Amino acid sequence: MGIVVQKFGGTSVGNGERVRNVAQIVAASFRKGPVIAVVSAMSGGVKSEGTTSLILKASRAATQGEPFQEALKQIEDDHLAALETAVSTPGLRAELEAFVREELTRLSNLLEAIAVLRELSPRSQDLLLATGERLSARLLAASLQDGGTEAVYTDLSDVVDEGEREIDPAFFTRLQGKMAERCTPQPDAVTVVTGFFGIAPGGLLHAVGRGYSDFTAAMIAAGLGRKQVEELQVWKEVDGIFTADPRRVPTARVLARISPTEAAELTYFGSEVLHPFTMERVVSADIPIRIKNTFKPENDGTLILPQREKPAARVTAVTAKRGITIVTVQSNRMYNAYGFLAGVFQALAEMGVVVDLVSTSEVSVSFTLDREDRLDRLRGGLERFGTVDVETGRAILSMVGEGMKFVPGTAGQMFSALGSAGVNIEMISQGASEINISCVIKEEDTEAGLRAVHRSFLEAP
Ligand code: ASP
Ligand code: MG
Repeated sequence: MGIVVQKFGGTSVGNGERVRNVAQIVAASFRKGPVIAVVSAMSGGVKSEGTTSLILKASRAATQGEPFQEALKQIEDDHLAALETAVSTPGLRAELEAFVREELTRLSNLLEAIAVLRELSPRSQDLLLATGERLSARLLAASLQDGGTEAVYTDLSDVVDEGEREIDPAFFTRLQGKMAERCTPQPDAVTVVTGFFGIAPGGLLHAVGRGYSDFTAAMIAAGLGRKQVEELQVWKEVDGIFTADPRRVPTARVLARISPTEAAELTYFGSEVLHPFTMERVVSADIPIRIKNTFKPENDGTLILPQREKPAARVTAVTAKRGITIVTVQSNRMYNAYGFLAGVFQALAEMGVVVDLVSTSEVSVSFTLDREDRLDRLRGGLERFGTVDVETGRAILSMVGEGMKFVPGTAGQMFSALGSAGVNIEMISQGASEINISCVIKEEDTEAGLRAVHRSFLEAP
C-alpha cells in the first residue's frame, strides 16, 4: 500500500472533539498503510475567528501600536480547551500545555517587537502565522499518541533555505523535494506535519494566499511522487464536489469523479473546490486527489482524476458566480476594428482590471468583471474608445463537462432550459476547450437558472 497524504482543514480540527475524530480517521488509515497528516490552523466556528485570522488581526493591531493581547488570549483559550478533550493522558497533556504556553509567549514577544518597530515585514508575518499550524499539528500528534498510535510531529516552518530570494516555479520544485525529504514516513508512526511552510520570500500569504495548507499538502505529495503516494486526500466539512451547490439546488448530488480541468473551471466560476495551484501540482505529478468529509469518513467522497475515456455524462456540474458587472464599449468609429479591441484591452491591462467573459463584434465589446469598486475610474479610462455602458447585478451561470466536447446541441438545450424558466440571457461564451458554456443573466434569476439547467442535464427525466 502506498502513502496516503491526508490534509485536514481548520474547521475539521476546530475543537477538541473534532481533533479526536480526525485522530481516529488518521489511525484507521494508518492501520492499512503509511500516512502523512497535514493540518491547517484550528478554526472553531467562523473563519474570521479562526487562529490564522486572529493572528492576522493581532499583527495588524501591533503594527498600528494597538493592543493585541485579546486575540492572543483567545488563541490560548481555544487551544487549552481543545487539549482538555483531545488528550487525556496526564503526561502528554502537561507537555502539550507547556508547548501551547511557550508558543504563545513567543508570539507575544514577536508582536511586542513589531509594536515597537511599527513595521511588519513578510518574514515576520510568516514567523507569526506559523504558530497556528504548529499548535494544531502538535495537538493532533498528541491526540494520536493518546489513542495509542505513534506520531511524529514535523514542523516545516524553517524548510525554506535562507538564501532563497525569489518565488518562481523552480523555487517550488526545489522546495517540494526538501519537504518530501523531511516528511518521509516511518513504518511505525504517522507523520503529522504543519500545513505551513516558511519562511517564503515575500511572505507565504503573498505567494500562495489563504489556503496555503492545501498547497503544503500538495507540495509534499508531489515531492514524494506517484511511485510512493497513492492519493492526496483533502478532508473538509462537505461530502465532496456536487453537481450544483446543494444549498441552491436541493436535487444536487455528490460526484464520484471529476477531472482536474472541470474542477478548475468550477473553482474559477464560483464553486470553491481547491486552490488551482494545489491541483496543478498534484495532477502534474499524476497523483489522484480525493475530497472527503471529516464528519462522514465512511463516504467515498469525490475523486479528482484526469479523464482518459469518454465520460458517461455530457455535463458534470453547473455553477454560478454572483456580483458580476457587464461593461460594454461601443466604438465611436475613430478606430478600426483591431485598433479598437487592442486599445480597450490595453487600457484594461494598464488599470489592472481582470475580466472573465468577453464578447465582441466589430464595433463593440462587452466584458464582465467581478468587482465593482473601481467603476468610475474604469469608465474614465475607456471613454476615449466610445460610449461606455455599465450594468451591475448580474451573475455568470456556467455549465462544465468534458462530455460536452463530444455531443452537439448542448448549448441549444441550455438556452431552451433557461428560456422555459423565463431566464433572459444577456451574454454567451463558450471556451475553445469546449468544456464550459457560460451565460450572463440577472442576479435575481440565479437560482431559477441553476435549477432549470440542473433539471435539464443532471436529473433523470
Ligand atoms: N490556516 C490558513 C488559513 O486559514 C491556511 C489554510 O487553512 O490553508 O488560511
Ligand atoms: Mg483552511
